[in-house]
Amino acid sequence: MIIDLHSHSDASDGLDSPSEVVRRATAAGVDVLALTDHDTVAGQAEAATAASLAESADPEPPDGSRGDRDAPVLPRLAPGCEMSCLAGGESVHLLAYLFDPAEPALAAELQRLREDRVRRARGMVDRLAALGAEVSWARVRELAAGEAIGRPHVARAMVEAGVAPDLESAFGADWLAPGGRAHVAKHAPDPAHAIGLVRAAGGVTVLAHPYARQAQWDGPDELIARLAAAGLTGLEVDHPGHDAEARVRLRDLAAELGLVATGGSDNHGSGIVPELGGESTLPGEYERLVAAARDAAAVVR
Ligand code: AMP
Ligand code: ZN
Ligand code: FE
Ligand code: FE
Repeated sequence: MIIDLHSHSDASDGLDSPSEVVRRATAAGVDVLALTDHDTVAGQAEAATAASLAESADPEPPDGSRGDRDAPVLPRLAPGCEMSCLAGGESVHLLAYLFDPAEPALAAELQRLREDRVRRARGMVDRLAALGAEVSWARVRELAAGEAIGRPHVARAMVEAGVAPDLESAFGADWLAPGGRAHVAKHAPDPAHAIGLVRAAGGVTVLAHPYARQAQWDGPDELIARLAAAGLTGLEVDHPGHDAEARVRLRDLAAELGLVATGGSDNHGSGIVPELGGESTLPGEYERLVAAARDAAAVVR
């Protein structure tokens, strides 16, 4: 059973369309997939259609078994997104699942996040120009054809324009990294506030990759305890940015705080490792997540 609860499409900074993500997940044998684009649910409808179309093209045999056919099992789609948050000046990502995307307060916050992303991307292009590193704003907009424009789109334009040799250096301390010369901060809510918004929309939240890229920062454990008290449901334990030691520590912490331990590939496109299904959530943990969402939805209904 492969349950991949973290993936991106070109609705944000992934490379593939939502239907292509579903197609690739199917090919990879993913049973449950969450499409978790940054600050948007714009890809959900297309992904859901792709999942159900593929389903009708590949119906379950009447006896419920697929016998020895090679037909791929379709991923069930768990709606989600990855919300940008800020805690103590540090960027924090919050995975949100199974919420009502039409709930006004949450929808408004997501819209604000996306709108401020546009201002910030434009600001980064202006900074680059002032540094003599010209990239075309039109090209950045074109690369960010989806709803959530971000640093990856600016970085790709920088590489295309020859301003940076590769994405890694575009994201480096000289350019787009926090504190870098071309970095511009974006609006983001405190994660405790975002947790409340998602709960009020009948959904649940999981702190994304808490130990990734923050080895130097001893904030995560305090932050995790604070967010657990604020209604956080889970911790993303199995993530490509976590080494074996980080996973052991996080799994212990999740158990200690009664949080669900999830896993997801955070895949951003075909050919980018790990592939979809490269990280997974245990079925029992996924059931706990779904049960918590059912409870949250029962409260708001
Ligand atoms: P933003 O939300 O616009 O600040 O962009 C953050 C996103 O950029 C992350 O979610 C990653 O997908 C991507 N990213 C961050 N650092 C790097 C890096 N060093 N190389 C490639 N992609 C990165
Ligand atoms: Zn991303
Ligand atoms: Fe993230
Ligand atoms: Fe992600």
